[in-house]
Order: sequence, then structure tokens, then C-alpha cells
Amino acid sequence: MLSRHGGAGGWAMTWQATALTLFPDMFPGMLGHSLAGRALERGIWSVDARDMREYGLGRHRVVDDTPFGGGAGMVMRPDVVASAIADIDLAGRPLVYPTPRGRRLMQADIRRYAAGPGVVVLCGRYEGVDERVLEASGAEQVSIGDYVLSGGEVAATVLLDACVRLLPGVMGSGESAVEESFSDGLLEYPLYTKPAQWDGRDVPEVLLSGHHAAIAKWRRAASETVTQARRPDLWAAYRAGTGQDISRTAGPRADADRLN
Ligand code: SAH
Repeated sequence: MLSRHGGAGGWAMTWQATALTLFPDMFPGMLGHSLAGRALERGIWSVDARDMREYGLGRHRVVDDTPFGGGAGMVMRPDVVASAIADIDLAGRPLVYPTPRGRRLMQADIRRYAAGPGVVVLCGRYEGVDERVLEASGAEQVSIGDYVLSGGEVAATVLLDACVRLLPGVMGSGESAVEESFSDGLLEYPLYTKPAQWDGRDVPEVLLSGHHAAIAKWRRAASETVTQARRPDLWAAYRAGTGQDISRTAGPRADADRLN
């Protein structure tokens, strides 16, 4: 856990991700490319994919069995998953189990994970994991949306991608995490680039005006309009004044936010 990297902000600990998975070759996968991939090469973060099959039982390394009570599919055994977890040095990192049965994963969670030493993600397969090992390990159960994936590796990739981009030194000054969707409880305003006229469609006049205050006002209004239209849930929270929880729960910016 002592590897270090030099970034814009000086020397810092490497943010450590561990994936418990039956498919270790899926990591870093997409995260080996672009922004996350460059950060991985620079040692800003690391990912250790542990093959849970190694903790399987018997000659066939069995990791799953049929559900008590009957029903379709297989369930990952608690003893096997527990052995895999026991072999990891959590070192203050949260153990996260992505599951459609979890509470919804929010940008606030991402900020909290990114602000810590890293995460350990338990990737489910089949119908999921025996409830008892989830209870015993105190895993945080989070869902990335109301649909069912075939395995936790895709969800883990989503979670890690969202965390890595927030790590100090990953995003350049050109890419900002401050003015994006959810950063203030609203969705982002629409974006435009060159050409100023395309296919008979103009860029909103105010954006070409150079008047920063007018642009900020237009963007704010556009953010509110799109949030109201597309996300009544976010809009209600924003109107109730609770929407800021989305960004202001213990994250890298939380201290600065509290001073504002
Ligand atoms: N039988 C489960 C679905 C299992 S899908 C149910 O009905 O709730 C297999 C694995 O994919 C899960 O263990 C979980 O790790 C992952 N997964 C599937 N959908 C997900 C989602 N929306 N969010 C997070 N993880 C998900």
C-alpha cells in the first residue's frame, strides 16, 4: 500500500482498487484506456483483480450452488466469498457489493470513495451472493440503475471510472468536475462547439456574446429547465434545498464547500 506517485499536487498515495471476480481478465478492461488508463500508467491508481475461483472448493474449485428454497440459477457460496474477502488487506477501504438490490449509487458516494484510500468491489455472478456473507462482511450494497446486468464487473467498471476521474491530477484544468451534472444538484446545461452554425441550426446567441454573467445566467436557467423536464426527482430535491447533498457529502471538495 506504500506505492507513491508524483502529481500536480505533490506526492500522494496510490488510490487502490481491488476487484473480487470470477473474471480477472476483465480488469482493467476499458479502464486501461484514455483518462483512466493514463492515470493507471502514472500510478495515480491501481487495480488488483483477485480470482475468486482460487478460493473455490475441491478439485473443480466450485464457487456456487443451488438456492435453498428452490428457484432458477445458482448462488455464490458464502464460505468461498468469505475466504476471498479474508485474504484482502482492506486497509480502511470500503467493501462494495454492486447489486440491483442496493441503494442507488450517487455522485456523493463516488466523491466519498475517491476521497479515501480506494475501494474493494465484490463482483457478483449468477443470481448473486449468499445474504449471510454480505451481512457478515458489512458490504455496502449499491445499484447502478434499475436494470439487471449479467455480472458485477460492468458495475465495478462504472464505479471505478467515476472515482478515478475525480482523483487529484487525473483531470486536467481543461476538464472540470465542478460544473458538471450533479455537482450542484442539477443536470448540466447543453453544450455547443464550432461551427457556430451547423445544418441550419444556430448556437444560442448569448454563448457567443462574451458576457460571462449573462452566459452563467443562461446556463443556470438551461440546467433548471432540463432537470425539471427529465429528472423530476432531482428537481424536487433541488427545490427542497436538499439537492446539494448530491455533491456535498464528504468528498474532496466537501471541506471547501462547507466554508462557502
Ligand atoms: N438475481 C439478482 C440479479 C443478479 S445479476 C436480482 O434479481 O437482484 C448478477 C450480478 O450482477 C449481481 O450479483 C451484481 O453484482 C451485478 N449486477 C446486476 N445488475 C446490477 C445493477 N443494476 N447494479 C449493480 N450491480 C448489478
